[in-house]
Amino acid sequence: MNIILLGPPGSGKGTQAKMLMEVYTIPQISTGDILRAAVANQTALGKQAKECMHKGALVPDELVVRIVEERLKERDCGRGFILDGFPRTVAQAEALDRLNIKIEAAVNVEVGNDELMKRLTGRRTCRTCGAMYHIYFNPPRRDGVCDTCNGELYQRDDDKEETIQTRLVVYEQQTNPLISWYQKKNIVYSVDGIGTVQEIFGRITEALKKAGLSA
Ligand code: AMP
Repeated sequence: MNIILLGPPGSGKGTQAKMLMEVYTIPQISTGDILRAAVANQTALGKQAKECMHKGALVPDELVVRIVEERLKERDCGRGFILDGFPRTVAQAEALDRLNIKIEAAVNVEVGNDELMKRLTGRRTCRTCGAMYHIYFNPPRRDGVCDTCNGELYQRDDDKEETIQTRLVVYEQQTNPLISWYQKKNIVYSVDGIGTVQEIFGRITEALKKAGLSA
């Protein structure tokens, strides 16, 4: 069961991918998470990716393709996987094809730009435990402080307003074309990304059933 989650930054695909991982018991592979960990650990990969990420640009295709290729060889991917944030360019999708990896469903989570802006600028993360908050939709009990561990909440560098603008433009220009690319393969399932996390999850699982993929 090989699934791709498409959708702009802030569409909630990371949250949905984690929920799908629980229900379908297949791993979620987020290139964004892998790259952020590499930057935090100051690895060679992190050093190469840092500047692009900071600007909201995409990291070069060869780098991310290599990361995904290696990750997909791990044993936990044997029954399938959920790709979250990859592919992001047609070149990356072509690379997946070359690796002979067959994708059964590309779920496209649709959210308009104004809503995305509000969602992305409000995101906060705990420096200590990684818990996620949102200043409008899921605020912590005390401003700037994690409810669980009292850690400091911070805003991801790439969630600052100028960077978000860039990320949305990059999505439009480089990632959106993937929708028609996968439409040609007849595997796109678009779902409305506005609603509660549970409502959206319900839409995605319904879509996956239509694709013949049940938990
Ligand atoms: P995300 O958490 O998926 O929004 O990714 C954060 C950042 O990591 C993006 O803005 C890119 O700089 C980089 N990134 C993540 N996935 C990819 C990818 N598939 N191709 C290129 N860059 C990526």
